[in-house]
Amino acid sequence: MSHSEQKIGESVTTHTAQGLYIDPQALTAHLPALDYRDGALHMEQVNIDEVVNHYGTPCYVYSKQAILDVYHAYSKSFASVEHQICYAVKANSNLAVLGVLAQAGAGFDIVSRGELMRVLAAGGRADRVVFSGVGKTYGDIEYALTQGIGCFNIESISELALINEVAKTLDKTAPISLRVNPDVDAKTHPYISTGLKDNKFGVAHQEALALYQQAATLSHIEIVGIDCHIGSQLTEVAPFVAALDKVIELIQGLRDNGIELRHIDLGGGLGVRYIDEMPVSIEDFAQALLPKLSELGLTVFFEPGRSIVANAGVLLTRVDVLKPTAHKNFAIVDAAMNDLIRPALYQAEMAVIPTVLPSAGIETADTQTWDIVGAICETGDFLAKDRLLSLQTGDTLAITGAGAYGFTMSSNYNSRPRASEVMVAGERHQLIRPRETVEALYADEQLWQDAP
Ligand SMILES: *Cc1c(COP(=O)(O)O)cnc(C)c1O
Repeated sequence: MSHSEQKIGESVTTHTAQGLYIDPQALTAHLPALDYRDGALHMEQVNIDEVVNHYGTPCYVYSKQAILDVYHAYSKSFASVEHQICYAVKANSNLAVLGVLAQAGAGFDIVSRGELMRVLAAGGRADRVVFSGVGKTYGDIEYALTQGIGCFNIESISELALINEVAKTLDKTAPISLRVNPDVDAKTHPYISTGLKDNKFGVAHQEALALYQQAATLSHIEIVGIDCHIGSQLTEVAPFVAALDKVIELIQGLRDNGIELRHIDLGGGLGVRYIDEMPVSIEDFAQALLPKLSELGLTVFFEPGRSIVANAGVLLTRVDVLKPTAHKNFAIVDAAMNDLIRPALYQAEMAVIPTVLPSAGIETADTQTWDIVGAICETGDFLAKDRLLSLQTGDTLAITGAGAYGFTMSSNYNSRPRASEVMVAGERHQLIRPRETVEALYADEQLWQDAP
């Protein structure tokens, strides 16, 4: 096999004319929850094979320790300022995940009434919840106020008016923060970039002061903070610093106008290493922001989602069919785009590694180039392309980095029941959501009744 090795920094990949080889052992060296022991993939102390035998595939598996480690990295790194880490529920909303974080003292960032119900069901505190999202309904607001929500992050004047109206009806005061759009380029995928002026999110910098002044006149509104969220999977700290500078400018303007805040919320968006990405560490992220934040004297909120759960999770899938063709080899697996849509939706590259190491690495005779695809009737149904792997039908593969925006974005397209979810802690594994049954998918549907 001819290959030009391309090693950048601590790259775990080799690019060849045939495709991409990801060294499974080098990759897992960067993923704290995973390692190979005697050639068998383990999460914490649990052999992944055992998980497959118990729960079948496709199956999402999450490490409790990996989730907590990142959460604690945030809280330790920002220990010198008053802070609240509000985990972004949309990244992974399983009750077990929320419960582990609630127990650790986390707050939550939600975007719907349903997410708030999940947080409360998992033992989270409503007063540590911030309610984000560009389109809150009357019902959402009513429910959140009744539960004692910590803060609404508002994005428009009409939303402000609606919240005031609902609060008045309930005879409550609604704590609010304004989501400002700092107009900085997060330099990430356009679908997950949210801080540019032509995005639908936030209120333009120039309009923020007027909106705060408007809010200050409303009887049932209490101004508590300011908020921004510029995108997701950001690997550099510079856009965060640029956004912070813009927000600080606004805070000064508000102070000059007699409006005092209690907190500043810098959103989420810190990136993770999926394969060879080199995101800034949480510690360095904190070091870059802390001098400015300490000076402000406000409580600092963050809304991390992906960085807390992505690398705590894998999606396990079985190779069902090997289909070599004249131009391409397809490995058809039992997971598909309905289980994990990131590759199809964002062109995301995720690592696919064997759960049992082949006896040799890239040079083994039966290594071939495979597209790892699902069985759904869409050409866009792929999980990975042009990967050098040695595959047999019946093998189990692990797709790493699948803890965030994996299960939560899954669907029942093609009447496929959604995957089971399992949590691992130490030597224990526990089913945290059973695989759906096909019958359950249509249990509430009704045949059309012709008039008698
Ligand atoms: C999605 C989202 C987050 C979390 O983003 P991550 O990239 O997962 O950290 C935080 N805040 C808001 C408002 C969001 O929409």
